This record gives sequence, structure tokens and C-alpha cells, in this order.
Amino acid sequence: MTQQRGLLIILSGPSGVGKGTVRAAIFKDNKFNYVYSVSATTRQSRPGEVDGVDYYFVSKEQFKQYIEEDALLEYAEYVGNYYGTPIQKIEENLAAGNDVFLEIEVQGALKVRERMPEGIFIFLAPPSLDELKSRITGRGTDREDVILERMQMAKEEIEMMQHYDYVVVNDTVEHAVEKVNAIIQSEHLRVERVVDRIRADIKNYFQQEGER
Ligand code: 5GP
Repeated sequence: MTQQRGLLIILSGPSGVGKGTVRAAIFKDNKFNYVYSVSATTRQSRPGEVDGVDYYFVSKEQFKQYIEEDALLEYAEYVGNYYGTPIQKIEENLAAGNDVFLEIEVQGALKVRERMPEGIFIFLAPPSLDELKSRITGRGTDREDVILERMQMAKEEIEMMQHYDYVVVNDTVEHAVEKVNAIIQSEHLRVERVVDRIRADIKNYFQQEGER
């Protein structure tokens, strides 16, 4: 029987919306066996982050080499650093029937849409712009002008929502996790994804009937 190809799931959304938190909760849950696509980045690791688990922390030179070798499905520059999605493991996992989960910013997601339109694109949206602003302010890391700039950027990123398949409002992490998992489960049940398996079973049944 042919192996069902895994799903490529892309969770994306504006800066500050809580993509990382939702993704971490999905993987902590462990109920579903998604393979997390570990990105490469040129940014410094933060305390507690593990190389090869959270990111592959690489030099700018190494990153440039990945680009030249066409080893990245997409990449983007974000706040002065490069972030990119290594393609090889994704291909291997999809072929092996594993669902692969990407958590990336909006520009990168749009590039993935061009190259792998069969992916499932989920846009994580803030409950409101006021709430987004208080989340960004709450980080306590940005100056007022930087916050303004981020809000302007968020406005443009939210406009990109139309290029996605689903929108999940991140009101609480728990709700968002539930909705993301429900989307993925439903996607597995689409007729085009199950029809080959069921037809093969029917063929098999009648073949055996004929031999009896
Ligand atoms: P952080 O530095 O906070 O870990 O991530 C910054 C932003 O980069 C987040 O919005 C995150 O989703 C995004 N990001 C992480 N990995 C990738 C990637 O491989 N490609 C792109 N385009 N964005 C990424």
C-alpha cells in the first residue's frame, strides 16, 4: 500500500502574537507526532536554548553557504538576523509519512506557499491590536518608537492573512493549541488524502474474493 505523505504545517503570524508559545505548547502536549522543523539562524542563542533543538545556530558565512547550495526552503532577514528552513529533513519526513511543523514569520511563510502550495497555512492572529501592543510592550525590551514600528509592521503582516488557509485567534494558548490540532486532524480526513488507501483496500478485497 502506498505510504500517505505527511502534511506540511506552517504556523505563522505577526511579531508578538505568541507563535513560539503556541508551538511550544503543541510540542509539550505530545499527543500528536509532528516533527518540528528546526530552523537555522545567525542570531545568538538565548539562555536555555539548545543548538540543534531550538535552532541550528550558525555563522553568517555558513548561512550564506546554505543559500548558495539551495539547502533552504525559504529564508528571511528579521531584526538584523537571518532565519531559514533547511529543506532536506522536511522532504525526508514528508516522504516517510510524518507531519512536519514549521513556525516562521510571515515573509517566509509566503515564500513556502509559492514553493509548496500543498502546505497547510495557519495564521495566528492577535485577539485585538490593543492586546498585541500590550504583549509587545510587556516584553519590556523595546523603546516607544520601536514599538510603533512593530505595530505598523503587524498591520501589514495581518493584511497577509488572505494568503493563508486558516486563521486561529490566539486568545488563550490552550484554545489556540486545540484549534491548530483540530485543523490538522481534519486535513488528514480530506477525501483526496484517504481515497487511495480505501480504494487499495477494495481492490485487495475483490482480488482475494476471486482467489477463494
Ligand atoms: P526568535 O528570534 O524570537 O526566535 O524568532 C524571530 C522570528 O523568526 C519569529 O517570528 C519566528 O517565527 C521566525 N522564524 C524562526 N525560524 C524561522 C525560519 O526558518 N524562517 C523564517 N522566515 N522565520 C523564522
